Order: sequence, then structure tokens, then C-alpha cells
Amino acid sequence: MAGRPLIGVSTYLESGARWGVWELEAALLPAGYPRLVQRAGGLAVMLPPDAPEHAAAAVARLDGLVIAGGPDVEPARYGAEPDPRTGPPARARDAWELALIEAALRADVPLLGICRGMQLLNVALGGTLVQHLDGHAEVVGVFGRHTVVPVPGTLYAGVVPKETSVPSYHHQAVDRLGEGLVVCAHATDGTVEAVELPSAAWALGVQWHPEMDEDVRVVRALVEAAS
Ligand code: MN
Repeated sequence: MAGRPLIGVSTYLESGARWGVWELEAALLPAGYPRLVQRAGGLAVMLPPDAPEHAAAAVARLDGLVIAGGPDVEPARYGAEPDPRTGPPARARDAWELALIEAALRADVPLLGICRGMQLLNVALGGTLVQHLDGHAEVVGVFGRHTVVPVPGTLYAGVVPKETSVPSYHHQAVDRLGEGLVVCAHATDGTVEAVELPSAAWALGVQWHPEMDEDVRVVRALVEAAS
């Protein structure tokens, strides 16, 4: 391929964002995400929520896809009643990002789900989520760190062969695995921290936040798969 692979990153859609003199609804993304793609050798483009029927056309123009972190997935998406500790739904994001994931898997476009993006990958394949767990987001608004341990023989273990410390901020996690998914890393408390889909061209989800870390190995692997 000529040039850097084009990596689409899904965005937030938030009211009350503030910059300069403005306080407006905004399609936004922490700058760590595009910087991570850029540091890993890709060209980053943002994918704000759109009608799900446009997802395949968007994915067709991409070499790789990142589904970013964000609000809790609406529990109705995996057939559950909302737990009182589950946050309000972001239905436009849920619909758009689920359609992006399905389009990427159908078109063999390499896919990385980060935090919420990993949970959506699981839900897209019929899996369910734990709606609240303790110990992985201990201070509100502050990323913690914890250890993740790779499962030998997986795609993930090929990228990061040894246990490593990662930035963490989540209060939900994978419960029942989606169809065809394999767990490829755990936290030391047993929480599922990464999943992959061996039947896909390249599909990985990580429960932590590589965009907050120095370590670019996971996203470099995505960029290489997209090249
Ligand atoms: Mn964690």
C-alpha cells in the first residue's frame, strides 16, 4: 500500500462540551486516540455517529477501524434490564458503532475495540456484560493501572507476550462471551481484559486504554494488519 493506512476512530457525541467561548454539542474524541493511531504509523480519521445504513460505505473507505471508549452499552442491546449503576444510554452511538463492527467483520477490515468498543464487539456477537464491577475505576475521572496477563497461543499474546501494566477505567466487563470470541488476556482478579475473534481477518478488543499509555504495540499490530 502507498502511504499510511487510514484508520477510522468512532467518536463521542456530547452536549455541553466547552472550548474557547463555546459550549455546544460536539462530536469529540480525547486526543490520545488519534495520537495513538499516528504514533503507530496510521492516518487517523474520526467517525461521528451517523445512520447505521451508512456504516458499510464508511468501512469500505477504511483500512482499519477503532471503536473508542465511552458510555455504557444500553443493556437492552444484550437482553438485560438496566442495573441502577449503569449509566444513561447513548443510543446513536450504540446503533452506529454496532453497525460499524458488523460491517468491518463482513468486509475483513481489521478492527480494534477499546473499552466500550470491546464490550460492543462482544454484544455484536451475542455476548452479555457484567453491569458493574469494583476495582477497575477506583477514582472518578482518574485512570488507574493494573496488570493484564496474556493467554498463550492467542493473537494478543503474539503482540504482547508477557504480562504488562495497563491504564484502566471501566466499571463493566464481558460476562458471557459472544459467538466465536476467545479470551486472550485476564486481569489478576479474573476479569476478562481482552478478546479476539479467530474467524475474523484481524479483530481484537482490549478492556483497557492504550490511548493513555506509552505502549503502542496493540495499535501497531492493528496498523500492520491494515497495511
Ligand atoms: Mn480492567
